[in-house]
Amino acid sequence: MTSQATDRVTDAAERLREGSQIVDLKDFSRADLRRLLKEAFNEPGFRGDQLFQWLYVHRAEAFDDMTNLSKSLRAKLQDKARISPLEFKDTHESPDGTTKLTFGCDGGGVVETVYIPAEGRNTLCISSQVGCALGCTFCYTAKMGLTRHLKTAEIVDQVVQARRLMTERNGHIGNIVFMGMGEPLHNVDNVINAIHVLLDEDGLNFSRRKITVSTSGMVPAIRRLGEETDVQLAISLNATTDKTRSEIMPINDRWGLDELMEALREFPLDNRERITFEYVLLKDVNDTLDDAQRIIDLTRDIPSKINLIPFNPHPRTPFKTPSEERMAAFTKYLSDRNVSVYRRRTRGQEEMAACGQLGKPGEKEPPHVRRKLAKFRDDQAANA
Ligand code: SF4
Repeated sequence: MTSQATDRVTDAAERLREGSQIVDLKDFSRADLRRLLKEAFNEPGFRGDQLFQWLYVHRAEAFDDMTNLSKSLRAKLQDKARISPLEFKDTHESPDGTTKLTFGCDGGGVVETVYIPAEGRNTLCISSQVGCALGCTFCYTAKMGLTRHLKTAEIVDQVVQARRLMTERNGHIGNIVFMGMGEPLHNVDNVINAIHVLLDEDGLNFSRRKITVSTSGMVPAIRRLGEETDVQLAISLNATTDKTRSEIMPINDRWGLDELMEALREFPLDNRERITFEYVLLKDVNDTLDDAQRIIDLTRDIPSKINLIPFNPHPRTPFKTPSEERMAAFTKYLSDRNVSVYRRRTRGQEEMAACGQLGKPGEKEPPHVRRKLAKFRDDQAANA
C-alpha cells in the first residue's frame, strides 16, 4: 500500500469519526475499506469486505439494505458516508443502441458515460474529468476546458450505475474503456485507484484484459500506469509527424513522437497483448498514404494494432471526415502490409455520444484551443 493511500484512509477515518465531511465509500479499494472501518469505528476487517460486497456485488443503494452490518454501524455510515457520488440524470439512445448516460456531480458539472452494445461484448466508455485541459483541436470536449478531475468514487460509480441501468435491459458490460471526457493520465492517481477497485475479484471483477486506458501521450504517467497496473494501453496517435501532431494535439509540444515511442517501447507488455494506436482520420490533415507508411515506421517494433476512427463531426469544427474512398485506401495500404488494422464503426453520432463528441462546451473555446484552431483555419485558407 502506498503512503498516499495510507494518508487517504487516515484522513477519511478522521472525517468519519468527526462527521466533519461526507466520505465517499467508492473512493476506496477493499483493503482500504477494511482499514477505514477499523480506524474509524474499531470494526473488524471483515466488515470492510462485507461493505465492499454490498457496494459492488449487490449494488446496494441504501445502507438499510446492508442487512449483515449491525444497525449501529449502518446508522453511523448513514450519517457520515455516501454510497453514490453521482446523480443519474438521463439517457440518450441512438438508433444503433449506443446510449449516452448523464450524471450530475458535486459542483454542478455533468459526467457523460457511453454504453456501446455489440454482439458478445458490451463496452462502457467512462469519463475521468469534467472537460479536458489538453485542447486537441478536433475534440468537442476540449472546447469545455477543464472544470475538474473526477474523484475515484465518481469514476467507479459510472460503472456501478451503468451496470444497474443497462445490464438488465441490454446484457452484461464486459469491457471498460477510459475514452470518455478527459485525459485519464492527467488524473492518474484517481484512475489507478479506480482500476484497482474495478479489478477486485470480490467486487466488480473486471478482467485486466478488458480494461483499456487511452491517453494522448502523457509520458511519465504512461510509465506509472505500466508499473502500477496491468490493464491495456491505447495511444491517441492521430498524426505521424511532430509538425501535424503539435498542430492538432498541443501535448505533442511537451512530449514529441520520439519520446512517446521510446516510452511505448519500454512499456511492460508481459501481461498485456499489445498496444492499441487510435488514429482519428481527418480530411487533408492526416489521411495520405505517406501518413499510412509513417504509421508503419513509427510502430514497427511495438506489438500493436491500429484502430482507424473516421472523424465524427460536431458543431463549430473546421475538420471534416475524409471520403469513404480515401479511408478505404488508407486501411488497405496498412492491411496489405500485414498491419493489424481495424476501421472503427461510428456509433452514437445521432446523440453526440460518438468518439470525441462528449461534453457541453460554452459559447467560446478556452484561449489555448481558440489559438490553435485559428492557426489551423489560417493554414487551411493559405493552402486552399
Ligand atoms: S481528445 Fe482526449 S485528451 Fe484530447 S482534448 Fe479530447 S478528451 Fe482531452
